[in-house]
Amino acid sequence: DSKDRGRNTFSFFRPALQMAVLKQRSLERDLIQATQRKEFLLHYQPRVCCRTNEVRSIEALLRWNHPNRGVLLPGHFVDTLEETGLIHDVGTWVAEQVGHDQRTLTRAGFDIPVSINVSPKQFDDHDLCHELVAALAQSNCPTDRIELEITESMLMGDKRNAKATLSKLRAEGFSISIDDFGTGYSNLAYIQDYPISCLKIDRSFINAIDKQAPVVNLVLSLCRLTDITAIAEGVETPEQLQWLEENKCDQYQGFIFSRPIPLMEMEKLLQDPPNLLYPHRQENEDCA
Ligand code: C2E
Ligand code: MG
Ligand code: MG
Ligand code: MG
Repeated sequence: DSKDRGRNTFSFFRPALQMAVLKQRSLERDLIQATQRKEFLLHYQPRVCCRTNEVRSIEALLRWNHPNRGVLLPGHFVDTLEETGLIHDVGTWVAEQVGHDQRTLTRAGFDIPVSINVSPKQFDDHDLCHELVAALAQSNCPTDRIELEITESMLMGDKRNAKATLSKLRAEGFSISIDDFGTGYSNLAYIQDYPISCLKIDRSFINAIDKQAPVVNLVLSLCRLTDITAIAEGVETPEQLQWLEENKCDQYQGFIFSRPIPLMEMEKLLQDPPNLLYPHRQENEDCA
């Protein structure tokens, strides 16, 4: 009868649910250890001028060197860092490491800006600005070499709070960019209100540039009119890159130029960058 079926259904799902809960618990335990044992590392991905293919800045991307699973991408653990609050400590470590790495590159002759991804919990922390400044002071890394990547959703809750946080960060020297732009439900009006220097157009639009061309062009126009730098994420093919150049996107990031790589490899890349120039490109013009 229905009661039996109900019970069967229940007992069928329960082990799976229990497994998921146990897995999540052990992930949390592992992450606490990872934070104490400093098992995290950073890779860097260049951000490149669409016209000249010169590297304009680099983005720090978190990795976890798991004791038996190898190097894990943030998709496996960033949500859990956020849920457990561990993101505060890890975020501070990221800022410290980025400061050191920015100085290392500067000493090697490449005084290049570095961007850091900021999570919603970090953004809501009223000490964020202070924490970042203190973390960077350890290596004497100037705040004006650091860009903070936030997402649209962080600007949607308490607008006045978000604006105050951004103004404080800006006054301290940081620049701000909007990551994954186009995927959140944001009010376009805020672009005018907040001190934003870049919009990073989400990879999903670049992936489907054939269908999304009107939307991407709209964002590119918006950026031109508001003096915001437009950056395309996730560029993988020459066709995508050519479209972006023809439609006057400022910069791009993507596997076509470089995957995220360790600092030492980045130093080599900056010394000897890949050349993706097309014949029709004008090489002597200035680049945004
Ligand atoms: P994101 O900030 O939007 O970073 C871009 C992601 O796209 C990176 O994935 C990068 O490896 C990937 N990507 C770049 N170019 C291409 C491409 O051409 N094709 C494809 N398919 N992918 C590309 P990753 O490193 O796995 O990071 C995922 C997300 O994790 C980041 O998205 C960011 O939201 C978050 N994250 C990374 N590092 C940190 C961090 O230090 N703190 C916080 N809070 N979040 C971080
Ligand atoms: Mg990012
Ligand atoms: Mg993104
Ligand atoms: Mg993102």
